[in-house]
Amino acid sequence: MNHTIHEYYMEAGKIAAKVREESIGKIKEGIPLLDIAQYVENRIEDLGGMPAFPCNISINEVASHYTPQDNVPCFKTGDVVKLDIGVHIEGYIADTATTLEVGTNNHRKLIRTCEEALEKAIASVRDGVQTNTIGMIIEETIKKNGFNPIKDLTGHSLERYRLHAGSTIPNYKSFFGNKIKKDMVFAIEPFATYGRGKIKDGRPYIFAINDGFKGEIAQEIRERFGPLPFTPRWIPGITGKELKGVREYFELIEESGNIVAQSEHTVIVQEEGCEVITK
Ligand code: MN
Ligand code: MN
Repeated sequence: MNHTIHEYYMEAGKIAAKVREESIGKIKEGIPLLDIAQYVENRIEDLGGMPAFPCNISINEVASHYTPQDNVPCFKTGDVVKLDIGVHIEGYIADTATTLEVGTNNHRKLIRTCEEALEKAIASVRDGVQTNTIGMIIEETIKKNGFNPIKDLTGHSLERYRLHAGSTIPNYKSFFGNKIKKDMVFAIEPFATYGRGKIKDGRPYIFAINDGFKGEIAQEIRERFGPLPFTPRWIPGITGKELKGVREYFELIEESGNIVAQSEHTVIVQEEGCEVITK
Protein backbone atom coordinates (compact mmCIF):
# COMPACT_ATOMS: atom_id res chain seq x y z
CA MET A 1 0.00 0.00 0.00
CA ASN A 2 1.18 3.47 -0.94
CA HIS A 3 2.63 5.31 2.08
CA THR A 4 0.31 8.33 1.84
CA ILE A 5 -2.81 6.16 1.60
CA HIS A 6 -1.59 4.12 4.56
CA GLU A 7 -1.15 7.32 6.57
CA TYR A 8 -4.71 8.42 5.72
CA TYR A 9 -6.08 5.08 6.91
CA MET A 10 -4.04 5.19 10.12
CA GLU A 11 -5.18 8.73 10.89
CA ALA A 12 -8.85 7.94 10.13
CA GLY A 13 -8.58 4.89 12.39
CA LYS A 14 -6.96 6.85 15.19
CA ILE A 15 -9.70 9.49 15.09
CA ALA A 16 -12.48 6.88 14.98
CA ALA A 17 -11.05 5.02 17.99
CA LYS A 18 -10.53 8.22 19.99
CA VAL A 19 -14.07 9.49 19.33
CA ARG A 20 -15.53 6.05 20.12
CA GLU A 21 -13.78 5.92 23.49
CA GLU A 22 -14.65 9.52 24.38
CA SER A 23 -18.32 9.00 23.47
CA ILE A 24 -18.82 5.87 25.55
CA GLY A 25 -18.38 7.91 28.74
CA LYS A 26 -21.03 10.43 27.65
CA ILE A 27 -23.85 7.91 27.12
CA LYS A 28 -26.07 8.14 30.20
CA GLU A 29 -29.74 7.79 31.14
CA GLY A 30 -31.74 10.83 30.01
CA ILE A 31 -29.22 12.12 27.45
CA PRO A 32 -30.73 12.58 23.96
CA LEU A 33 -29.25 10.22 21.36
CA LEU A 34 -28.91 13.27 19.12
CA ASP A 35 -26.43 14.88 21.56
CA ILE A 36 -24.13 11.87 21.21
CA ALA A 37 -24.53 11.62 17.42
CA GLN A 38 -23.68 15.29 17.03
CA TYR A 39 -20.81 15.07 19.50
CA VAL A 40 -19.36 12.19 17.47
CA GLU A 41 -19.76 13.92 14.10
CA ASN A 42 -18.43 17.31 15.31
CA ARG A 43 -15.53 15.76 17.18
CA ILE A 44 -14.47 13.82 14.07
CA GLU A 45 -14.20 17.12 12.18
CA ASP A 46 -12.40 18.86 15.08
CA LEU A 47 -9.79 16.12 14.93
CA GLY A 48 -9.29 16.59 11.19
CA GLY A 49 -11.47 13.84 9.72
CA MET A 50 -14.89 13.71 8.10
CA PRO A 51 -17.79 11.45 9.09
CA ALA A 52 -17.90 8.57 6.59
CA PHE A 53 -21.58 8.05 7.52
CA PRO A 54 -24.02 9.44 10.08
CA CYS A 55 -23.24 8.23 13.61
CA ASN A 56 -25.35 5.08 14.12
CA ILE A 57 -26.84 4.64 17.59
CA SER A 58 -28.92 1.47 17.55
CA ILE A 59 -30.64 0.22 20.69
CA ASN A 60 -31.67 -3.26 21.93
CA GLU A 61 -33.26 -5.26 19.05
CA VAL A 62 -32.16 -2.64 16.51
CA ALA A 63 -28.89 -4.03 15.19
CA SER A 64 -27.82 -1.12 13.00
CA HIS A 65 -28.63 1.88 10.77
CA TYR A 66 -30.53 4.05 13.23
CA THR A 67 -29.44 7.65 13.53
CA PRO A 68 -31.50 10.19 15.52
CA GLN A 69 -33.17 13.13 13.75
CA ASP A 70 -34.31 15.19 16.78
CA ASN A 71 -33.74 15.30 20.53
CA VAL A 72 -36.77 13.18 21.46
CA PRO A 73 -35.28 9.71 21.92
CA CYS A 74 -33.13 9.58 25.07
CA PHE A 75 -31.02 6.81 26.56
CA LYS A 76 -32.82 4.73 29.19
CA THR A 77 -31.41 2.57 31.96
CA GLY A 78 -30.92 -0.95 30.63
CA ASP A 79 -30.55 0.03 26.96
CA VAL A 80 -28.06 -2.06 25.00
CA VAL A 81 -26.44 0.54 22.75
CA LYS A 82 -24.48 -0.11 19.56
CA LEU A 83 -22.39 2.96 18.76
CA ASP A 84 -21.07 2.74 15.20
CA ILE A 85 -18.68 5.40 13.92
CA GLY A 86 -17.15 6.04 10.49
CA VAL A 87 -14.33 8.45 9.70
CA HIS A 88 -12.76 9.20 6.36
CA ILE A 89 -9.77 11.21 5.27
CA GLU A 90 -9.66 11.90 1.53
CA GLY A 91 -12.14 9.05 1.14
CA TYR A 92 -10.10 6.45 3.06
CA ILE A 93 -12.51 5.04 5.62
CA ALA A 94 -12.20 3.63 9.14
CA ASP A 95 -15.35 1.93 10.50
CA THR A 96 -15.69 0.86 14.15
CA ALA A 97 -18.42 -0.08 16.59
CA THR A 98 -18.85 -1.08 20.20
CA THR A 99 -21.72 -2.12 22.46
CA LEU A 100 -22.46 -0.86 25.95
CA GLU A 101 -25.26 -0.97 28.50
CA VAL A 102 -26.75 2.14 30.06
CA GLY A 103 -26.40 1.80 33.84
CA THR A 104 -26.81 -2.00 33.98
CA ASN A 105 -24.71 -5.09 33.54
CA ASN A 106 -27.26 -7.65 32.38
CA HIS A 107 -25.81 -8.50 28.98
CA ARG A 108 -22.11 -8.63 29.69
CA LYS A 109 -21.77 -12.17 28.33
CA LEU A 110 -23.48 -11.27 25.03
CA ILE A 111 -21.34 -8.15 24.60
CA ARG A 112 -18.16 -9.94 25.62
CA THR A 113 -18.95 -12.75 23.16
CA CYS A 114 -19.04 -10.30 20.27
CA GLU A 115 -15.72 -8.83 21.34
CA GLU A 116 -14.21 -12.30 21.61
CA ALA A 117 -15.53 -13.25 18.15
CA LEU A 118 -13.97 -10.09 16.73
CA GLU A 119 -10.62 -10.71 18.46
CA LYS A 120 -10.48 -14.29 17.16
CA ALA A 121 -11.52 -13.23 13.66
CA ILE A 122 -8.81 -10.56 13.60
CA ALA A 123 -6.22 -13.09 14.80
CA SER A 124 -7.06 -15.26 11.77
CA VAL A 125 -6.68 -12.54 9.12
CA ARG A 126 -3.70 -12.82 6.79
CA ASP A 127 -2.96 -12.82 3.08
CA GLY A 128 -4.70 -15.79 1.45
CA VAL A 129 -7.23 -16.68 4.15
CA GLN A 130 -10.77 -17.49 2.99
CA THR A 131 -13.57 -15.15 4.08
CA ASN A 132 -15.74 -18.11 5.12
CA THR A 133 -12.96 -19.40 7.37
CA ILE A 134 -13.15 -16.10 9.25
CA GLY A 135 -16.95 -16.49 9.27
CA MET A 136 -16.60 -19.97 10.75
CA ILE A 137 -14.46 -18.63 13.59
CA ILE A 138 -17.05 -15.93 14.32
CA GLU A 139 -19.95 -18.41 14.26
CA GLU A 140 -18.20 -20.97 16.46
CA THR A 141 -17.21 -18.37 19.05
CA ILE A 142 -20.73 -16.97 19.27
CA LYS A 143 -22.44 -20.37 19.36
CA LYS A 144 -20.16 -21.88 21.99
CA ASN A 145 -21.26 -19.07 24.29
CA GLY A 146 -24.92 -19.92 23.68
CA PHE A 147 -25.89 -17.13 21.26
CA ASN A 148 -26.58 -16.85 17.54
CA PRO A 149 -24.71 -14.78 14.97
CA ILE A 150 -26.73 -12.52 12.71
CA LYS A 151 -26.18 -14.15 9.35
CA ASP A 152 -27.91 -11.39 7.39
CA LEU A 153 -25.23 -8.85 8.36
CA THR A 154 -21.61 -9.04 7.25
CA GLY A 155 -18.25 -7.38 7.43
CA HIS A 156 -17.20 -5.65 4.22
CA SER A 157 -14.25 -4.46 2.21
CA LEU A 158 -13.53 -0.71 2.11
CA GLU A 159 -12.23 1.26 -0.80
CA ARG A 160 -11.81 4.96 -1.43
CA TYR A 161 -15.23 6.59 -0.89
CA ARG A 162 -16.78 3.12 -0.91
CA LEU A 163 -18.13 1.89 2.41
CA HIS A 164 -19.29 -1.49 1.11
CA ALA A 165 -16.82 -2.16 -1.63
CA GLY A 166 -17.93 -5.59 -2.81
CA SER A 167 -16.21 -8.27 -0.73
CA THR A 168 -17.95 -9.44 2.43
CA ILE A 169 -16.87 -11.28 5.57
CA PRO A 170 -19.80 -13.41 6.74
CA ASN A 171 -20.64 -13.90 10.40
CA TYR A 172 -21.02 -17.66 9.82
CA LYS A 173 -19.44 -20.45 7.80
CA SER A 174 -20.95 -19.68 4.43
CA PHE A 175 -20.62 -22.28 1.67
CA PHE A 176 -18.64 -20.04 -0.64
CA GLY A 177 -15.74 -17.83 0.36
CA ASN A 178 -13.17 -15.61 -1.29
CA LYS A 179 -9.46 -15.36 -0.69
CA ILE A 180 -8.54 -12.09 0.97
CA LYS A 181 -5.34 -10.45 -0.18
CA LYS A 182 -2.56 -8.30 1.20
CA ASP A 183 -3.44 -4.57 1.33
CA MET A 184 -7.19 -5.16 1.21
CA VAL A 185 -9.03 -3.15 3.85
CA PHE A 186 -11.89 -4.80 5.73
CA ALA A 187 -14.36 -3.90 8.43
CA ILE A 188 -15.07 -7.03 10.46
CA GLU A 189 -18.26 -6.83 12.50
CA PRO A 190 -19.74 -9.79 14.36
CA PHE A 191 -23.30 -9.36 15.64
CA ALA A 192 -24.65 -11.74 18.32
CA THR A 193 -28.17 -12.12 19.70
CA TYR A 194 -30.34 -14.22 21.99
CA GLY A 195 -32.76 -14.55 19.06
CA ARG A 196 -32.59 -16.53 15.83
CA GLY A 197 -30.49 -13.87 14.20
CA LYS A 198 -32.75 -13.01 11.29
CA ILE A 199 -33.15 -9.38 10.27
CA LYS A 200 -36.20 -7.41 9.20
CA ASP A 201 -36.17 -3.87 7.84
CA GLY A 202 -37.41 -0.88 9.82
CA ARG A 203 -37.63 2.70 8.56
CA PRO A 204 -34.90 4.54 6.63
CA TYR A 205 -32.93 7.28 8.41
CA ILE A 206 -29.77 7.02 6.33
CA PHE A 207 -29.53 7.52 2.58
CA ALA A 208 -26.99 7.68 -0.23
CA ILE A 209 -27.27 8.87 -3.78
CA ASN A 210 -26.84 6.52 -6.68
CA ASP A 211 -25.60 7.51 -10.12
CA GLY A 212 -29.09 7.87 -11.54
CA PHE A 213 -30.30 10.32 -8.87
CA LYS A 214 -31.07 13.62 -10.53
CA GLY A 215 -33.31 15.55 -8.14
CA GLU A 216 -32.73 19.29 -7.49
CA ILE A 217 -30.83 18.44 -4.37
CA ALA A 218 -28.60 15.89 -6.13
CA GLN A 219 -25.82 18.35 -6.95
CA GLU A 220 -25.53 19.59 -3.35
CA ILE A 221 -25.52 16.07 -1.95
CA ARG A 222 -22.99 14.86 -4.51
CA GLU A 223 -20.66 17.73 -3.67
CA ARG A 224 -20.94 17.33 0.08
CA PHE A 225 -21.00 13.57 0.56
CA GLY A 226 -20.16 11.96 -2.78
CA PRO A 227 -21.48 8.39 -2.75
CA LEU A 228 -21.16 8.14 1.06
CA PRO A 229 -24.24 7.86 3.29
CA PHE A 230 -25.94 10.96 4.74
CA THR A 231 -28.99 11.69 6.87
CA PRO A 232 -31.72 14.34 6.45
CA ARG A 233 -30.69 16.26 9.58
CA TRP A 234 -27.43 17.11 7.78
CA ILE A 235 -29.44 18.98 5.14
CA PRO A 236 -31.75 21.45 6.93
CA GLY A 237 -35.05 21.97 5.12
CA ILE A 238 -34.83 18.86 2.96
CA THR A 239 -38.19 17.17 2.37
CA GLY A 240 -39.16 13.54 1.87
CA LYS A 241 -40.17 14.40 -1.68
CA GLU A 242 -36.68 15.59 -2.55
CA LEU A 243 -35.28 12.29 -1.28
CA LYS A 244 -37.47 10.24 -3.60
CA GLY A 245 -35.32 7.86 -5.61
CA VAL A 246 -32.22 7.94 -3.39
CA ARG A 247 -30.86 4.73 -1.96
CA GLU A 248 -32.36 3.99 1.47
CA TYR A 249 -30.51 2.23 4.29
CA PHE A 250 -33.30 0.72 6.36
CA GLU A 251 -33.00 0.24 10.08
CA LEU A 252 -31.94 -3.39 10.64
CA ILE A 253 -33.97 -5.03 13.38
CA GLU A 254 -33.68 -8.52 14.91
CA GLU A 255 -36.84 -10.21 13.64
CA SER A 256 -37.92 -11.84 16.90
CA GLY A 257 -37.27 -8.65 18.89
CA ASN A 258 -34.26 -9.97 20.81
CA ILE A 259 -31.35 -7.86 21.98
CA VAL A 260 -28.33 -7.60 19.67
CA ALA A 261 -24.67 -6.76 20.35
CA GLN A 262 -22.06 -5.71 17.77
CA SER A 263 -18.30 -5.25 17.76
CA GLU A 264 -16.34 -3.81 14.83
CA HIS A 265 -12.81 -2.91 13.80
CA THR A 266 -11.19 -1.98 10.50
CA VAL A 267 -8.07 -3.89 9.43
CA ILE A 268 -5.49 -3.73 6.68
CA VAL A 269 -4.52 -7.22 5.51
CA GLN A 270 -0.81 -8.01 5.64
CA GLU A 271 1.24 -10.97 4.49
CA GLU A 272 1.29 -12.32 8.02
CA GLY A 273 -1.64 -11.07 10.07
CA CYS A 274 -3.21 -7.65 9.78
CA GLU A 275 -2.99 -4.12 11.09
CA VAL A 276 -5.98 -3.03 13.21
CA ILE A 277 -6.40 0.69 12.51
CA THR A 278 -9.28 1.41 14.93
CA LYS A 279 -7.78 -0.04 18.14
MN1 MN B 1 -19.80 0.24 11.30
MN1 MN C 1 -19.21 -1.69 8.87
